[in-house]
Amino acid sequence: MRSIDIHSHLADDYFDENRDEVLAIMAEKQIGTISIGTDLVSSQRVVALAERSALVWACVGVHPENLHEGFAAAEYGSLLAHPRTVAVGECGFDYFRADDAVAARRAQRSLFEAQIECALAHDLPLMLHIRPSRGTLDAYHDALDILSSYKKKYPSLRGNSHFFAGDTEVAKQFFDLDFTISFTGVITFAREYDAVIAYAPPERMHAETDAPFVAPVPHRGKQCVPWMVEEVVGRIAEIKGASIDECAHTLLGNTKRLFALE
Ligand SMILES: [Zn+2]
Repeated sequence: MRSIDIHSHLADDYFDENRDEVLAIMAEKQIGTISIGTDLVSSQRVVALAERSALVWACVGVHPENLHEGFAAAEYGSLLAHPRTVAVGECGFDYFRADDAVAARRAQRSLFEAQIECALAHDLPLMLHIRPSRGTLDAYHDALDILSSYKKKYPSLRGNSHFFAGDTEVAKQFFDLDFTISFTGVITFAREYDAVIAYAPPERMHAETDAPFVAPVPHRGKQCVPWMVEEVVGRIAEIKGASIDECAHTLLGNTKRLFALE
């Protein structure tokens, strides 16, 4: 394996037309992915896909926008116990689109806490989705408060903050809690995360695509697929002043370590 895209939605309907083609290119390029669930049905789909392809691992859980669904740990029992399941999520806070701020935030918090407890019970890392309201870092501050209090009681708590959109101070707080951060194709066409990438220790980062969203340069305008993670790795290498091979090797090691992949 050369690289692993740690966050894609390869099991979702978007890929029903061409999933096998995408997997064939991934096999050629030796690129794997962690496919992410956002509710019970998509979590069942990611586990089924991971069973079928050695290039895919599963992350199961409920996205903060799927509040109506809740998180019934019992329904997720066999998915969480599955040997190809490597993380819980994507879970956390999405304040970007929440209309009724107070009620939605309270409900998102209990959904998040249920999944933190589940990750601890199954000794799995968390895949965090944290999206603040416009022009603020509010969702990061709330998530970090909760994670720090759990971390004091449960030192094994660990995970990754996906689609990182915080600043160096927020990144530092994640590192202090033994969490990593990951970057998408956005970094290939926007400069706003260069500073945090330059700041972050290389062993605390991952590359991802969030496919089918945000295709990196030079694939803008096309469907984003997991093998495009090589462009994200290339851009991290450039910012870090490392060779692509060296950077790919470090990032792959980080991913294997956090998600306990063989
Ligand atoms: Zn996602």
